Amino acid sequence: MIGFENRAMLERMDFGKPNEVQFCVYASEGISKERTEKFFAGWNEKEATKYQLYARIASFQIYERKNFFHSGILKNIMEIPIPDECDRVLALISRNVGDVIWGLTALPEVLGEVNDETLTHGFVVGKMGSLNQLLMSPRKGFLHELFHFFSCGHAILKSDCYQMIKSLKDVAVQVREQNGYERFGVKPYFPSKGVNAPIFIFREQVNGTLKNLLK
Ligand SMILES: [Zn+2]
Repeated sequence: MIGFENRAMLERMDFGKPNEVQFCVYASEGISKERTEKFFAGWNEKEATKYQLYARIASFQIYERKNFFHSGILKNIMEIPIPDECDRVLALISRNVGDVIWGLTALPEVLGEVNDETLTHGFVVGKMGSLNQLLMSPRKGFLHELFHFFSCGHAILKSDCYQMIKSLKDVAVQVREQNGYERFGVKPYFPSKGVNAPIFIFREQVNGTLKNLLK
């Protein structure tokens, strides 16, 4: 889990002005735009107001799911460079018959995953299929993975997560104030930070890192 709320700390913190993080969404067949909008509304109503960090759907398109095992799915997604209009790449996948069988064999099941290297690319299972999913609903799974997209890890309390979100937001403000994007002739980007990686200020850094990784 991402952690319990640390209410006293949350109340003390100033997250500054609202930011919007743009997601390019690739949905597998059977997951509608309406369903996707409900997932995002879940974040924006429940979590975004705490951190002034809103998640938006910049684009929505149908994604053909090629791989059955989760590592394969994640790798497929990581091959998509972050487009100029987006900050993150999210796939919403639905279950197929194979997954249902897989679920019933009691193998560990993953309901979503975000790549450790940049924490910018990930997937969420957006539709119920197997019994194992009774453990975590797609709606909860979506919120969980969104925290990973904002560079939060697993913990008992969300304290480190608050600091992380604040750091990303502060960097965003600093780069914008110094006209960092204009100076380098690139489109604005909401910063990201991989596990044990520096903060990525430009999407070009992320795309370059992933390209090298997947070589
Ligand atoms: Zn997790």
